[in-house]
Amino acid sequence: MSTSEHTISPTPAFDAGAALAAERARVMAAIANLDEALSQMKDPDADADHDFGEEGGEGAGAAVDRDRDAALRSQLLDHLDSVDAAERRLDDGTYGQCRTCRRPIASARLEVLAAATECVGCAGAPLLTRRSR
Ligand SMILES: [Zn+2]
Repeated sequence: MSTSEHTISPTPAFDAGAALAAERARVMAAIANLDEALSQMKDPDADADHDFGEEGGEGAGAAVDRDRDAALRSQLLDHLDSVDAAERRLDDGTYGQCRTCRRPIASARLEVLAAATECVGCAGAPLLTRRSR
């Protein structure tokens, strides 16, 4: 496939609205998946005895999965909040501005993290530093 009909623009226009909409759809789908997984897990556990005395039981494994999924779900909800906030900033005209130093956030960063609120410098470059574990 050749895409020779590219519009020529020195800085490719980053469509923040589309990126945020896509991000929202992705997060909503992930939450829906988790909800389904959680609702399937809930039943067998609901009337089971709380018999976690011995390790290695299937019940304990499921409980760990559920805790992890619940934690993931709350992270996703937080992320949804930040997408909401980014959409409001888009309306305000403050989207893409670092909330700390007020300088524009690099569009390369916004393409990866459409809901970013800080520039790489102020955010402490989490994408680079969090790999240590
Ligand atoms: Zn900054």
